Amino acid sequence: MRRLTDAGYTAYLAGGCVRDQLMGNEPTDFDVATSARPEEIKEVFPRAHAVGESFGVLLIRRHGHTIETATFRTDGPYSDGRHPEEVHFSDAEHDARRRDFTINGLFQDPLTGRIIDFVGGQTDLQSRTLRAIGDPHDRIHEDRLRMLRAVRFTARFGFSLEEATADAIRQHAENLKGVSRERIGQEVRRMLLDQNRAVAAWELQYLGLDETVLGESNLTVAPTRLGQLPEPVEYATALAAWIFDRHGESVEADKAAKRWRRALMLSNAEYDALKDALDYSRALRTSWPRLGIARQKRIAASPPFNQALLLVQTADRQEFIDIRRRVLDLEKTGLAPEPLLSGDDLIEAGMTPGPEFRRILDGVYDAQLEGQIRDPESALELAWLIRRTLAGDGGTD
Ligand code: ATP
Ligand code: MG
Repeated sequence: MRRLTDAGYTAYLAGGCVRDQLMGNEPTDFDVATSARPEEIKEVFPRAHAVGESFGVLLIRRHGHTIETATFRTDGPYSDGRHPEEVHFSDAEHDARRRDFTINGLFQDPLTGRIIDFVGGQTDLQSRTLRAIGDPHDRIHEDRLRMLRAVRFTARFGFSLEEATADAIRQHAENLKGVSRERIGQEVRRMLLDQNRAVAAWELQYLGLDETVLGESNLTVAPTRLGQLPEPVEYATALAAWIFDRHGESVEADKAAKRWRRALMLSNAEYDALKDALDYSRALRTSWPRLGIARQKRIAASPPFNQALLLVQTADRQEFIDIRRRVLDLEKTGLAPEPLLSGDDLIEAGMTPGPEFRRILDGVYDAQLEGQIRDPESALELAWLIRRTLAGDGGTD
C-alpha cells in the first residue's frame, strides 16, 4: 500500500478486514481498494494477477500472502439479481456505497490508522447493528444473496438486524429462489459451521428464508438441539440436529434429509454422513442398551459414532452420560483390537477360501470382542466350529 501511495494513488484497507480489526478480531484476509486503475496497479506490481479485470480486481502476492486489490468502483445496473452488468471506476465514497452492509463499508488508511467512514459503519459497529447501506429494498433487489449474508453476519457477530433491513428481507424472501443452489448451500454451510449456528437457523426461519433455503414449508420452531451442539462439529451433524429440531426423530427426518440434499447441494459424502448421523443417533437412543458387547464395541468404534453421540447429548443428557460410561467400560478390553485371526490364517490352516470366510472371521472376531477367546489357538478352534456349523453337517472335517 505504501508503494501505491508513493506512486501517487490512494490505497485503503477495505471491508471485512477493517470491520474485524475494529471489533478486536484477527482478519482472515486483507482487501485493498485503490484509486489506481488496473493497468496502473500493474505498473507498480508487474506480476499482479488479474482475476476479474472488468471488475478491476487484481491479486498481488507478497511474502506468501495474496492481497486482493481492487480499483474504487460503482456497480452498474443489476439485471440477474446477483451481478452488476457493468462497473465504472470511481472514487472511495462510491466504492463504499456499493457495498452491502454499513459494517462492511469501512476503509482504513493503514499508514496513519485513520478510519474512512462514508456509511455510518462505526456507529453500527458500536451499537452492534447490521444495516444495509442505502435503501434495503434496492440493495436486496440488486443482489438477493445479500439476504443470506445478512443472516450470516448477524449471527456470527451476535448483532441485531436493523428493522428496515429485516422487513425488506422478509418481503423479498421469495426471491431467494433466483440464487443458485451452490451459493445458497455455501452460505448455509458457513452459517452452520459457525458456533452461533442456532442464531442463524432461528433468523432464517424468522425471516421466512428457510422455505427457499431448505425447500420445505416455513417453520418457526426453536432450534434447541442445534444450539446444544458443542464447537466445532461436522456440517452433517449440525444439519442432523436442525432436522431433528424441525421434524422430530420420525421418518419425517429422513424425508427432510432427501430434500435438503438437493436444496443445499450436499456432496455424496455429506449426504451419507447426514444419514449416518440420523440413523446412528436414533439407534443409540433406542436399541443401544439391549445390544451385546460385540455389537456395542463395533458401533462405538465406527466412524459415525462420535458425531452421533453429540446428537444424543442434545436430546437427553442422561442418555448421553450412560452411553459414555458404557463406552469407557468397553474400552478397558479394547473397542477394536487387532483380530486374532485373518483370512490368511484360515488358508494356512487348510480351509479353502470362499464366501463363508467373512462370516467365519466375523464370528471369531465377535467372540474376541466379547472376551470369550484370547489367543490365536482358541480362535482357530472356534473358526473350525463355525465352519462346520455353516456347512450344517456338524460332523468331522
Ligand atoms: P468474511 O470474513 O466472511 O470474508 P467479508 O466482509 O470479508 O467477511 P467477503 O465476502 O470476503 O466478506 O467480501 C469482502 C467485502 O466485499 C465485504 O466486506 C463487502 O464490503 C463487499 N461485498 C462482498 N459481497 C458483497 C455483496 N454481495 N454485495 C455487496 N458488497 C459485497
Ligand atoms: Mg473476506
